[in-house]
Amino acid sequence: MRLVFSPPTMAKASSTSPGICYLVGAGPGDPGLMTLKGKECIEIADVLVYDYLCNIEHLRYAKPGAERIYVGKKAKDHTLTQDKINELIVQLTRAGKIVTRLKGGDPVLFGRGAEEAAELADAGVRFEIVPGITSAIAGPAYAGIPVTHRDHCSQLTIFTGHEDPTKDETSLDYAKIAKADGTKVFLMGVERMEEITGKFIANGADPDTPMALVRWATHGCQQTLVGTLGTMAAKVKEAGFKAPAVAVVGDVVKERAKINWFETRPLFGKRIVVTRTRQQAGVLSKKLRDLGADVIELPTIRIEEPTNLMLFGELVQDCHTYEWIIFTSPNGVDAFFKMFDKLYQDTRSIGGVRIACVGPGTAERVKARHLAVDVMPEKNFVAEGLVKALKDYQNFEHVSVLWVRGEDTREVIANELTALGAIVDEAIAYRNVPEKEDNLEALARLKNEGADMITFTSGSTVDCFMALGVPLPAGCKVASIGPVTSEAVKKHGLTVDVTTEVNTIPGLVAAIEKHWA
Ligand code: SAH
Repeated sequence: MRLVFSPPTMAKASSTSPGICYLVGAGPGDPGLMTLKGKECIEIADVLVYDYLCNIEHLRYAKPGAERIYVGKKAKDHTLTQDKINELIVQLTRAGKIVTRLKGGDPVLFGRGAEEAAELADAGVRFEIVPGITSAIAGPAYAGIPVTHRDHCSQLTIFTGHEDPTKDETSLDYAKIAKADGTKVFLMGVERMEEITGKFIANGADPDTPMALVRWATHGCQQTLVGTLGTMAAKVKEAGFKAPAVAVVGDVVKERAKINWFETRPLFGKRIVVTRTRQQAGVLSKKLRDLGADVIELPTIRIEEPTNLMLFGELVQDCHTYEWIIFTSPNGVDAFFKMFDKLYQDTRSIGGVRIACVGPGTAERVKARHLAVDVMPEKNFVAEGLVKALKDYQNFEHVSVLWVRGEDTREVIANELTALGAIVDEAIAYRNVPEKEDNLEALARLKNEGADMITFTSGSTVDCFMALGVPLPAGCKVASIGPVTSEAVKKHGLTVDVTTEVNTIPGLVAAIEKHWA
């Protein structure tokens, strides 16, 4: 446990119970816009209670076995009512759990976080508030609109557009808001655009005041609509623009013409599916996102221990007796050293063995152990390329080789090296199994929103995607990391639209970028 808990400040709170509830701001959506403290709260949580606007990718930090409770809450469509949510978090905290309550943006800016805090205080249980990056400021910033600017304004008003301004019971005084200096930002206002902008103008605001709406701000699917107070309501109707969106009104909107940085990146507007395991997806997803893509992580496979773990252990134990160890995937390296570390306390126990790797991704994992890689193909990062590189390196007559592989890896290495006279033992280090649990939300997105491209990084990601029985969305291109993966794609009757020059993750990203350049 890494968080240092502050001592309970509530008179009634019990310091003996481990129960605590963290009311955490999950940020507006970009997975990077979560605070370090928020991330720690996810890591230590026994239970995660999260909302509609909270990016579920943050849940990847949760420890295995942590319970996840979705409490929904789109306007009008409450999975649990606020009372029930209050009750739930109080109950869980009372039961001694570490509860991390994730709320979109900042928890106390129109997030009802304060009400939840009050309930927890009343119940006498411990809680902390972990502020988050609010969509009210980050949303405009990601559209190239700073909410304050020395040339335009030095005041910011944030209000809710949820209340109907034409009703008597509204708590908002539009006469004051419309006349206030500076930038105005409102949340939850898309559905009442006509009433809200109408009230502004009726109360003396200039209809030509620049205005923008930012939908799904900071997500890869962000959309921005620019207009004026006078034109925005009609534009919303015409574009069929929907919630959730942040509205920003004021001269600062003009800055977008210069500093619209997020929407001008090379892959902005492209929805790309990543099918690797949840643990491995990160690197590819991040590279694509950094280029502006809207990434759907749809893990199709999961890595599990090999069927015969005992046999694998025995082979790893004897690894120092071989002349060569051959690794053909990063997963193999990870599984090998996981076992090695259980058996030995000293890396030198690997002995004077030589090491060969199929490509840079695999080699990187070996080098991370401060072990040198003796042989790797120069280009062709597949088994055939590795066999050639080994052949060029030395004669393999009577040479002993331990090949660390996955259960369903092609037999090329064993067949070819045996044909060269080598004595090859195969250490089956892991197996790929279809991922069936961790992808329901991603599957729903794929069906509802479609995709511009799907990426495959191994034959098994292809096979397992096809086994899901989900048709590829219309117009969806296929990108493959290399020849073996492409073969698997073709075997299923699909066409490969993008292939790499270099069969690596950076090579794949470069090819995708080039495809749309
Ligand atoms: N506590 C949240 C706001 C909750 S109210 C925060 O600090 O951001 C819900 C409203 O927030 C939505 O209707 C929408 O107006 C706005 N919102 C939240 N996340 C958003 C996002 N990523 N893009 C655009 N608007 C968002």
